[in-house]
Amino acid sequence: MSLRRCKAWPRLALASLAFCVLPGVIHAAGTVTDPGKFLEQTERVRTIDHPRFVAMLAQIHEEASQLTPVQKWYLRYLDGWQTAFEGDATKANMMLQDVIDHSGDATLKAKSMALLMHNLGLSNHYEEAFTLANQLASDLPTVKDKLARFIVLSNLSQLMVYAGQTDLAIKYARMMEDSVPPGESLCNPLSMEVSALNKTDRLTSSSPKLQEAIDACSAAGQPVFVNTMMLIKSDLYLTEDRPEKALALLNHLAPSVAANRYYSHMRAVQVQLAQAYEKLGDEANARKAALAALAMSGQDEVSEWVRTAYEVLYKVEKRRGNPAASLAYYENFVAQDKGYIDDISARSLAYATVQQHLLAQRLEAEGLSKQNNILRLQQALDTKAVETSRLYIALLLVLVISIAAWLLRIKRSQLRFKMLSFRDSLTGIFNHQHFVSEAERVLRATERKSGAACLISIDLDHFKLINDTHGHAVGDIVLKHTVTLCQRQLRPTDLFGRLGGEEFGILLPDCTREQGVAIADRIRTAIEATPVEGDGRLVTFSASIGLASTDSSGYELQLLRREADAALYRAKRTGRNRVIADNQLPGMIRA
Ligand code: GH3
Ligand code: MG
Ligand code: MG
Repeated sequence: MSLRRCKAWPRLALASLAFCVLPGVIHAAGTVTDPGKFLEQTERVRTIDHPRFVAMLAQIHEEASQLTPVQKWYLRYLDGWQTAFEGDATKANMMLQDVIDHSGDATLKAKSMALLMHNLGLSNHYEEAFTLANQLASDLPTVKDKLARFIVLSNLSQLMVYAGQTDLAIKYARMMEDSVPPGESLCNPLSMEVSALNKTDRLTSSSPKLQEAIDACSAAGQPVFVNTMMLIKSDLYLTEDRPEKALALLNHLAPSVAANRYYSHMRAVQVQLAQAYEKLGDEANARKAALAALAMSGQDEVSEWVRTAYEVLYKVEKRRGNPAASLAYYENFVAQDKGYIDDISARSLAYATVQQHLLAQRLEAEGLSKQNNILRLQQALDTKAVETSRLYIALLLVLVISIAAWLLRIKRSQLRFKMLSFRDSLTGIFNHQHFVSEAERVLRATERKSGAACLISIDLDHFKLINDTHGHAVGDIVLKHTVTLCQRQLRPTDLFGRLGGEEFGILLPDCTREQGVAIADRIRTAIEATPVEGDGRLVTFSASIGLASTDSSGYELQLLRREADAALYRAKRTGRNRVIADNQLPGMIRA
């Protein structure tokens, strides 16, 4: 920052020092072998050796094509700094805004924002400066670069002093004290803290904090900061009505202030000398110093410096008995006083306005977050409702499936029962009742197509005797065995049923008498030839078979059964173990 621009700050504005003077090790500028390091070195010399800074900046511009994107943004930041130094704040601020918006580098962004904030404060754009201060303060945790963080804190502290927010200014200064980067010392943060305390009534010329800052800055080889502290001390002497002490200190300081040529200090010395001389009654020197201070100020400048200089002048002229001159200076003093008070009010107002906006934003954000919470709750409830209805659907599905399974089981057992009701429990073939109904159905179908069918009646011979001889269980085995033997001779379309005890009936559809007799005889032969094992012995048995055909007996089951039974009876009567068909000639008997 140029001295010309720095002078707009209130008296002993250390903040500008924090920005205007950056201590650091200066390396000789040579060829650009490491552009990153070269840029850092360039930045470090900017206030200490400004002509060298300009030369190095020109040199790195020639190598611009070698730079990485971040290094290019670094260069743009330094260009912005130099532009501000040259006094073109508008152009500088645009360049800094560009770095802030597009560099994507947290350190460069923080430094650029700090510089922009500083420029805005200097050019009386207080609201914008405080808005940026809020942003910088909230971004601070993300600023990892120690020096950038130090610079940001320093500028924040400075701006807070400027806004009359001394507690905040002290807070930022103490944050600086807690993390001093390499190459820096406690001088800067302690000086910041003292400047802030100076705005309150908590500082006296003998405050240990003030001495601590003076010692730290002396040890760090920071004469400009030492002078700032000394000027605060002499100002405090004046406030404490000890002009002789102030004068002694100012005289002691004068050579160092002159050597450093820091504009703000040079003028401060003159103003304080004027005050001290005035208090000591040395009107000539007081007037001389006050006029010197005014000569160093800008024409339209309104500041505490100018105000104090006019105050000294009107008092001196009044004491000298020059009412006209005194009145003229007094008018200037009043105008300055009003302007200065107005400026302080403008700063406070701007600060308060920005804080109000921030508060409103936070409240709005809180309101929004409450709304969001309600929405989230609503969504959660909706999700819960969906989950609940899904659960209901799942339960319903389970219920439906269970009912379906249950119905299926019922249906199956019904079918099983139905099947069982159709079957004979011992042999598994049709029972009497089912055989009759099925036989009637098949016979009707056969009648419709005028086909032929045979009905066979089988009765085991002397079965009672088997039971009696070998036991009922063996009798059962004989019955089941008989069924198996018969089935081997039958077609799938033939009907087979147990008509009672040891009597069986078979309906052979699409079967002539001759075919029927042949089948019946094969059954008889198989039975005769296949004994069963029962009671440890082989049990042979035989069957008598009677056959009736639709050819002679018609399609009525009752008639067919009667004829078949009659034939069976004849088979029994004629010696058993034989097949007899209805209206059969004696020669055709199979036995
Ligand atoms: P025939 O040669 O004249 O037919 O003489 P049979 O002994 O075979 O005839 P009868 O009618 O006198 O005897 C039938 C016997 O069949 C009587 C009965 O105890 C027996 N019986 C009926 N049902 C069953 C059964 O389910 N199991 C057993 N083991 N015996 C049965
Ligand atoms: Mg019988
Ligand atoms: Mg029998």
